[in-house]
Amino acid sequence: MRPARALIDLDALRHNYRLARQFHGGQAFAVVKANAYGHGALACALALRGEADGYAVAFIDEALALRAGGIAAPILLLEGVFDTAELLEAARQWLWVAVHHPAQVEMIERTSLPAPLRVWIKVNSGMNRAGFSPDAVRTIWKRLIVDGKVKDCGFMTHFARADEPDAEATAEQIRTFDAATRSLPGERSLANSGAILAWPDSHRDWARPGIMLYGADPIPGEGHGLLPVMTLASEIVAVRELAPGDPLGYGARFVAQRRTRVGLVAMGYADGYPRTAPDHVPVAVDGQIASLIGRVSMDMLTVDLTDLPEAGIGSAVELWGKQVSVNRVAQSAGTISYELLCNVKRVDFAWENGEG
Ligand SMILES: *Cc1c(COP(=O)(O)O)cnc(C)c1O
Repeated sequence: MRPARALIDLDALRHNYRLARQFHGGQAFAVVKANAYGHGALACALALRGEADGYAVAFIDEALALRAGGIAAPILLLEGVFDTAELLEAARQWLWVAVHHPAQVEMIERTSLPAPLRVWIKVNSGMNRAGFSPDAVRTIWKRLIVDGKVKDCGFMTHFARADEPDAEATAEQIRTFDAATRSLPGERSLANSGAILAWPDSHRDWARPGIMLYGADPIPGEGHGLLPVMTLASEIVAVRELAPGDPLGYGARFVAQRRTRVGLVAMGYADGYPRTAPDHVPVAVDGQIASLIGRVSMDMLTVDLTDLPEAGIGSAVELWGKQVSVNRVAQSAGTISYELLCNVKRVDFAWENGEG
């Protein structure tokens, strides 16, 4: 069997969820959208069952998969609903619905619902991507609660620069949100992972931790005690020797400067390892740090084993996980941990420590 695997440590996930709630106080939606950032949404949600106050997903299909898998806790749809059929289903399944643009308000006004709806009004406090402008919030709130269809109405916003501890922009967004919602009743939710860790002023009733649950610190180097959840692993499947001057792989990007022992690893960009990773990104082989050399192919990549004479066919390879941080790989490849984790596919998944 091809040895490419993603090992998901559900104990680490629970540890990170507890840490998020401890940093923030109050309650926390475990954000499990996009298949739990590539970690397996249902497996992750079940591992947090009895512990998570609620979950958050992007859209209703993701929520219905969790309900079908036995998740009874609140589930928030971060993008809300896209049509009336989804609105009816959301009410039936007791899903919590974000409302971020006027068409969603009109949809609620003209639809008779099978059950009272819980909504979260999304305030555009400065990111300018989704949400109502601050001066519209009070009117939207009145329209939603006037006829009794909406049972509970909370207020949320999202930060553009929460992972930059010094960005005045976040303090400004908090002030804008507070002014827009002043004296309106209802729960508040502001903080994603970056704000949970760096912006205590944003901590209110509900946190929305995503990336930190999976152990990738959005504010690297801060040592918050997060544990990596995914280990992307494979094995050395072949070894060859290059003489000085020999090229390696597509485009001959790497050319040997010395006698070089090359290990071939069953892992490529079709599995989610980034093709943009340059030479010398760290790769752990049998627990020791080696370097990627040569361009990443669709199904394979190559590592320098010259200084690891013990390593050979069958040696364990960690592309990221507890020894090589996914943040390090992402930074080298010109992207963020979020994208790398979401992109893992085709490999064999195994979930460990499922029972809490
Ligand atoms: C994805 C998302 C989150 C989680 O963000 P992280 O940076 O991963 O913690 C929180 N809130 C909203 C609205 C989101 O879309």
